[in-house]
Amino acid sequence: MLWADKIANEIRDTRTPRDGKRFLIRDEKTLSGRVHIGSMRGVAVHGLMAEILADEGIATEYRYELNDFDPFDSIPSYLDQEKYKEHLGKPLYAVPSPETGFANYAEYFGDEFVSVHQKAGWTPNYYRAIDLYRSGKMDSFMKIALERASDVRRILKDISGSEKDASWLPVSVVCEQCGKIMTTRAHDYDGETVGYTCDKNPDGAVSCGHTGRVAPWRGAAKLFWKVEWAAKWVAQGVDIEGGGKDHSTKGGSRDVANHICRELFSAEPPFDIPYEFFLVGGKKMSSSKGRGSSARDIADLFPPQVLRLALIGKDIREQIDVDPSGESVPRMFDWYDELAEAARQGAADDHARLFALCELPTERAELAAPWQMRFREVAFIVQMPHLALATEAARVKGSALTEDELRALDERAQYAKFWLATYAPEDFKYVLQEELPEVELSDVQKKALATLAQVMRGGERTGEELHAFLHSLKTDIPIKPTELFQAIYRIFLARDSGPKAGWFLAGLPRDFVIKRLSEVE
Ligand SMILES: [Zn+2]
Repeated sequence: MLWADKIANEIRDTRTPRDGKRFLIRDEKTLSGRVHIGSMRGVAVHGLMAEILADEGIATEYRYELNDFDPFDSIPSYLDQEKYKEHLGKPLYAVPSPETGFANYAEYFGDEFVSVHQKAGWTPNYYRAIDLYRSGKMDSFMKIALERASDVRRILKDISGSEKDASWLPVSVVCEQCGKIMTTRAHDYDGETVGYTCDKNPDGAVSCGHTGRVAPWRGAAKLFWKVEWAAKWVAQGVDIEGGGKDHSTKGGSRDVANHICRELFSAEPPFDIPYEFFLVGGKKMSSSKGRGSSARDIADLFPPQVLRLALIGKDIREQIDVDPSGESVPRMFDWYDELAEAARQGAADDHARLFALCELPTERAELAAPWQMRFREVAFIVQMPHLALATEAARVKGSALTEDELRALDERAQYAKFWLATYAPEDFKYVLQEELPEVELSDVQKKALATLAQVMRGGERTGEELHAFLHSLKTDIPIKPTELFQAIYRIFLARDSGPKAGWFLAGLPRDFVIKRLSEVE
């Protein structure tokens, strides 16, 4: 059984919705800059749970928080450092957007991230963290956390080993004078207001020195995040919420939030789904590095179904690793094709199930698994100006392509071209040489190529025929296959390796092949 079905079953068998009506599934992302692809794993895991439960007739709501209330604590490398310096320490909703047309910084980066959710077919109900606070729904939990600050300090110390001094309160006030939240220190809660001083200067944020008292309600202050996490669950009645592996260790933030949830708010934490990392090129790169590892960058590499496969294909206990500059992209397409083949064979196994879940929910009812040409082959053919992709695909398939298959082929060609133009390694790049390149060939290689030229002069040959003929040269000349194929790749592509030679030659204009072979005789 697929990992996602196992988890969905466990939820169904062990939980009932808190509100008695529907399971509330929640996830969130702090919009501190361009969002790393790793955050899409949470979007996918939660989105898939909502889909599977809904398929079983169980009501769900998938809610996603665009967190715009966390502080702006570092300036990503791709932004103007001078321009953004003065905003360090403000809540993200108060930081200007890098481009016009967006209300603030968080909205700008949120918009790009949401576009990736949409491409992958997950469309939760979005809300902003600051709106949740301004609605007043967090106030009663903030009141409890302030009244029982000593319990919060004790839990933090016992569970995570983090010690706070006796005046520490689990809230950060937004400074009324400078608007920053990271620079303030709250103390002395009197039941209605907290005192604060704006005098901390962490990570380059400059405080203003203001001192005052403020009623911390309705967005005037923010809860310390491990307390806030629990408060968000209880304030909204969250039933299901997983988190990345980094939060899920013993003594980690989830552990602390669970204790706060039970002890302070007298509620059971949501059903947890801890999931592994999504790495890019073997690294858990930070999103401040920018291009190459963002959700948008990785999403651009794949059509929706293959993007979904990248996100949901592996069990949550396994790491995902995609390296756009290696073989990951063709391999992901190959994996998708294997699942499609299982579906075409009518298999009722995990492969066919995964294939169905890769399809967008809106399209799943009319699920089809059209034949597709391998991504590697498509990527080769789109680089050969004389080859017509549809003709070559029909040749490989053995019959004409259906309309669906042609549409799929065209889409795959677009993705292949994009990959070749951006990340693809040199191994996948081919340039058909218009003129005979400088090559040194042995007498045996020359003899084999001359024999090949003779056969080509005899008439049209199919890829299979040429393939068989080339292999017969092994004993007829005799020549080692590696030497033979190397000679062919050198004179046509100016490199030592290439696609399957028989089909490659059959795809080229015959006159061109004969001329080139004759030039080396
Ligand atoms: Zn201030």
